[in-house]
Amino acid sequence: MLSLSRQLRHSQIPRTRLAQMASHLSTSGSANGGGQGGASPGFSLRELPKSNVFTSKLPADPAFPTPRDSHNAPRETLGPRMVKGALYTYVRPEPALSPELLGVSGAAMKDLAIKPDEERSEEFAHILAGNEIISWDEETGEGVYPWAQCYGGYQFGQWAGQLGDGRAISLFETTNPSTGVRYELQLKGAGKTPYSRFADGKAVLRSSIREFVVSEYLNAIKIPTTRALSLVLCPNSRVQRERLEPGAIVARFAQSWIRLGTFDLLRARNDRQLLRELAEYVGENVYKGWESLPGRLPSPDSTEVPRGVPKEKTEGEGKEAQNRFTRLYREIARRNALTVAAWQAYGFMNGVLNTDNTSILGLSMDYGPFAFMDNFDPAYTPNHDDFLLRYSYRNQPTIIWWNLVRLGEALGEQMGAGEWCDDEEFAKEGVRQARADELVQRAEHLIEQTGEEYKAVFLAEYKRLMTARLGLQTHKQSDFDDLFSEWLDLMEAHELDFNQCFRKLSDVPLGQIESSEQRKDVAARFFHADGVAGGEDTAKDRISAWLEKWRARVLEDWGEGQDEARIAAMKSVNPKFVPKGWILDELIERVEKKNERDVLKTVMNMSLNPFNETWGLDEEEEQRFCGDVPKYSRALQCSCSS
Ligand code: AMP
Ligand code: MG
Repeated sequence: MLSLSRQLRHSQIPRTRLAQMASHLSTSGSANGGGQGGASPGFSLRELPKSNVFTSKLPADPAFPTPRDSHNAPRETLGPRMVKGALYTYVRPEPALSPELLGVSGAAMKDLAIKPDEERSEEFAHILAGNEIISWDEETGEGVYPWAQCYGGYQFGQWAGQLGDGRAISLFETTNPSTGVRYELQLKGAGKTPYSRFADGKAVLRSSIREFVVSEYLNAIKIPTTRALSLVLCPNSRVQRERLEPGAIVARFAQSWIRLGTFDLLRARNDRQLLRELAEYVGENVYKGWESLPGRLPSPDSTEVPRGVPKEKTEGEGKEAQNRFTRLYREIARRNALTVAAWQAYGFMNGVLNTDNTSILGLSMDYGPFAFMDNFDPAYTPNHDDFLLRYSYRNQPTIIWWNLVRLGEALGEQMGAGEWCDDEEFAKEGVRQARADELVQRAEHLIEQTGEEYKAVFLAEYKRLMTARLGLQTHKQSDFDDLFSEWLDLMEAHELDFNQCFRKLSDVPLGQIESSEQRKDVAARFFHADGVAGGEDTAKDRISAWLEKWRARVLEDWGEGQDEARIAAMKSVNPKFVPKGWILDELIERVEKKNERDVLKTVMNMSLNPFNETWGLDEEEEQRFCGDVPKYSRALQCSCSS
């Protein structure tokens, strides 16, 4: 029995380290420590409505308190150092000579309300390479000045201290007038910031291509993610990695770039005022206000454990104990549960799920050694340096929860205070010794409850997605073992391609799998062209037995004669194109070494429309990109160096 049950067994809640918090608290005192752009014709980059909610509401690096202080400072003084009591530093991008625009995402243009064809304007690449600050007036000092965020993180389970945007610089926020969604646009690879530590602030073309493509692909298959607008090559910037490589800049955007690591850093520094300020900022300005957050769970003092996805409730016992910080924590956990469920359902692995790469909005983010599963193997990690398989496929739900427990520890004081969180003395000074134990106990209980909720939301979403991917309309308890687990088990045993199997299944008419003979014939369609692992006959028998059960369930849900509708429904959730490691490698090779440009358009077009049958491009190439992974390019791994 595989995956799910294992995934669940792995999803145990790690013991919190809240007890440690008591020591800080007892001092009681001052802290020191998809394409829905709407109908408007769109704007040029200059015309886009711009804002700076983040920098206007949160504290700046005291070394450069205003944009002008930073702007007038020599560029080299904006390099690496520790930044305290702040959430960002004003910093300008480094100039990039002769930038070449390699690609844009049409879906991103639309979502940002940028007018079609704007990418043809000469200044598009110039602005998105960071060569001009278009939102700030040097004379008056008015407008929006670029910034880099300050955060920390646990990397591979160890506290890593201050990290921050070491090579990402945010230009401005912009709100799409038709959708009302506000995004923060940033350039990755635009030069050094105070958060660059020992590195150069640059990004290489190789990793930039990967981020550009996968961000837009995940969005196209409806997995929450940060987005990518454009990819610019900086031919004059040669970047030293294992070899000298061309540099590039991706313009990427998200509703928020705040990470769990942003909270971690403030907790590590015991900066409880700023931590509270940040939590309030997130509740009020990133989420749509406290009222939008989920309702209260049963009282944390009751022994009742919520089952299933808790109903939205605004009243109930425990009302006083579940203050707004707890509801914020729960919403962050729920969003992450939804996203990790989608990763599991689509075989996506981030590869470096450190807390600095875990979004407070549950967005997939910070694309390094990520991969989509080729042959199904739950122990696979795409990260070459992940010897302990910490970030392997089957560990993802557990690891995201581990990260969320760290967030629970950071927010624990505010959560544990219950209704008393707005008491003036508490807000300013923290908890008194006499009540510290009570607070810690309550916070631990709330984190545990949120853990149950995380599991419930994860499971419900995983079931929903798998039900749809298998072409069913309802979910029955027995589907879990009979269909989901056996489907994954047989893929693992016979080394079948995970995503291809779903797409191939979509295309199977029920009339072709009535008899055992027929089913065995159809079974062979799931094999790789060069054969199947574990013996052909064994594989055929096992797949055939599964197809029989699947057929019965499809009939139960759809009735007879519904193939056409069922196939269409399945194809709308089972992508034909998946940007696998080998495709990205080929793409990089051709763009970087052979100076090809059209192939990037091809892959981007396929990524933005992954459920299509054809794309009207080079048919042979399209089919090759949707076909078998070449034998020696399966389960590739990447290093973190990018
Ligand atoms: P990542 O592994 O990409 O999530 O990065 C971890 C941390 O290292 C983040 O704070 C990054 O900003 C920083 N970082 C990674 N690569 C570079 C680079 N080439 N220059 C400066 N900072 C970097
Ligand atoms: Mg990161």
